[in-house]
Amino acid sequence: MKTYKIVLKGTVQGVGFRPFVYQLATKYKLFGEVLNNSLGVEITLNATKEELELFIEELKLKLPPLAKIDSIEIIEAEPQKFSSFKIVKTKESKSKVALLPPDISICKECEKELFDPNNRRYLYPFITCTNCGVRYSIIEKLPYDRINTSMHFFKMCKKCEAEYSNPLDRRYHAQPIGCFECGPRLELRVKSEELRVSGVEAISGAVELLRGGGILAIKGVGGYHLVCDATNSEAIAKLRERKNRPTKPFAIMVKDIEMAKELANIFKKEEELLTSKERPIVILNSSLLTLNSLVAPNISKIGLFLPYTPLHLLILKELNRPIVATSANITDEPICTNIESLEKLENVYDGVLEHNRNIVNGCDDSVLMVVKDRVITLRRARGYTPVSIKLPFKLKQKTLALGANQKSTVAIGFNKEVILSPHIGDLDSIGSVEYYKKNIETLLRIYDFKPETVAHDLHPNYESTKVAKEFKNVELKAVQHHFAHILGVMVEHSISSKVFGVAFDGTGLGSDGNLWGGEFLVCDYKGFERVAHIEYFKLIGGEKAIKEPRRVALSLLFKCFGKEALELDIPTIKAFSQTELNALYIAWQKGLNAPLSSSAGRLFDGIASLVGVNQVVIYEGESGLMLEELYDKKEKSSYQFEYKDGKIDIRPLIKAIIKEQSTIKAVSKFFNTLIEIIATVYKNYTHLPLVASGGVFQNRVLLELLIERFPNVYIPNKIPPNDGGIALGQTASFN
Ligand code: ZN
Ligand code: ZN
Ligand code: FE
Repeated sequence: MKTYKIVLKGTVQGVGFRPFVYQLATKYKLFGEVLNNSLGVEITLNATKEELELFIEELKLKLPPLAKIDSIEIIEAEPQKFSSFKIVKTKESKSKVALLPPDISICKECEKELFDPNNRRYLYPFITCTNCGVRYSIIEKLPYDRINTSMHFFKMCKKCEAEYSNPLDRRYHAQPIGCFECGPRLELRVKSEELRVSGVEAISGAVELLRGGGILAIKGVGGYHLVCDATNSEAIAKLRERKNRPTKPFAIMVKDIEMAKELANIFKKEEELLTSKERPIVILNSSLLTLNSLVAPNISKIGLFLPYTPLHLLILKELNRPIVATSANITDEPICTNIESLEKLENVYDGVLEHNRNIVNGCDDSVLMVVKDRVITLRRARGYTPVSIKLPFKLKQKTLALGANQKSTVAIGFNKEVILSPHIGDLDSIGSVEYYKKNIETLLRIYDFKPETVAHDLHPNYESTKVAKEFKNVELKAVQHHFAHILGVMVEHSISSKVFGVAFDGTGLGSDGNLWGGEFLVCDYKGFERVAHIEYFKLIGGEKAIKEPRRVALSLLFKCFGKEALELDIPTIKAFSQTELNALYIAWQKGLNAPLSSSAGRLFDGIASLVGVNQVVIYEGESGLMLEELYDKKEKSSYQFEYKDGKIDIRPLIKAIIKEQSTIKAVSKFFNTLIEIIATVYKNYTHLPLVASGGVFQNRVLLELLIERFPNVYIPNKIPPNDGGIALGQTASFN
């Protein structure tokens, strides 16, 4: 008999790991102890070598559902005497690298109890156990103990306390444990009636409000949702008008997978995602166009998700209809996480379903899609953060990466781990920058992290760059935007060799001061060489050109035809007045406020204008979505382009597209041309793995074509192709 010390790292805290170890030790009649420390879980065990081996084997095999072991270290320790096996209170230590589990949807057992009239938590909207429920959204700091979460305001009743302290109970150390008597409470406030109801009646009141066509704000896991009956066109129209969101698609929450199947054609992999413990929004092919015309006008896709908390389950079971569920926020502002911020939306909702458990860390819903059997993360947040991503090498310094300016995320990196924050959003308002800073503080606080290096985007005017410069006594590292896009994918797929990266993107500042976005980069972690790019065109009016595809198209036309472009009888020209056209020509010719760009994202905009589907964008990414709808799989041909000296001249494409009679043909051939462009440039680099990223690769059609043509292509799966993936890439650069 010897004494062994076993150190386990990974997702091992707050997931029922210690009671699991306790039960296992009891089974093998082994004495010793188990405790959480800031590194993970530490087990001390008196055992023979054979017993130890059996114990470890079964431990690996029968892990609790949410646990994940990254490493096990076993050392022989100084002999110690034990008279039983004990779970010992948490030890504090200096470096905090234990991984915090994300917020997870309600588990099957809790769901069963929720609807069991004999259970003491029957219909309790906050029922939870060690295998499910909130975590990240309620934690102040590690270690994950009740005292460090917003649950510390609630004093456990005797019954809950007994469950919480019993290692054999499913709720042993389930930090958010509570019941009707002692836990968080629900309250419904209906504005028109000055009415407040609590408890079970709050649910029926909320359902009644929704049935009547009202808009309800519901406090969820990482923020508030605005919700209405998705089968009620008037309610949706009211929500669109009040939220000033005329056409941008809404996500729909459905009661269960059966209801989801009534609204969309769902493949196996998509069903797995919908019903997974993370419960993301999944973008699917809609099968009910009448519903789509309201929730996603002119688009055949629909974003669905299933209820992930007992509260949502209770509402949807009783309502028995799909609901629109969109994040409650003011345009450009972050998701509302407390009643004070929600009240700014007072004119939007008719009632609030509120509870008294504070949201410490805001967290949006995650958004995923499946393309050619590959999972694409469009927004990484609830359920997925703060799960760490492994680096293929060890970081030399503790690194904080601040991301870009749109769809921001931030990351901390140490050793071989990178922890990415949830989706923060665009940094276009004071409120969103504050929220962004709060997310940085949260990451640094939870992990007690002091960065030695701060990585940021090359763009000097990005808010994230300004924040980077506020850090003192750190090494600053400016990383080119598209290099970071490609690096993110390399990290995700543990690629250590040089790669050929295609970054098709909206915009990002290039090393030459121009706005890049149609880039071909040969990269490793140390740096990149720009081997080719889409030839520059001018963005007339700078920022304005991003909002107005017609400006991009006009610039492309000037590039092809000079002033004669103004004589063309095509939608782009018709979208302007004669005075505007003349002024824009002068601006183009003289290069007044007309920065050079090689952006593939802008090219999409330009094409959308030329074929007449979109002249002025209402929401970001609209052109791409609309062009997707027009793609015809049967069309196999493409347009001409020229490739010389690393420059892709797209003038032949533009000239041909405006002569095309059929819009569908024009759009389809445009998509095919992009793939031809990639193939042409890649031809000289086929010895390198092909990596593709950047916001343009959120386009389902383009991705499908890319994967069909290059089945071995590496694309981002766990991180978004958009700027949400930048922080991961920044962390890994120059190593
Ligand atoms: Zn549970
Ligand atoms: Zn209780
Ligand atoms: Fe980007």
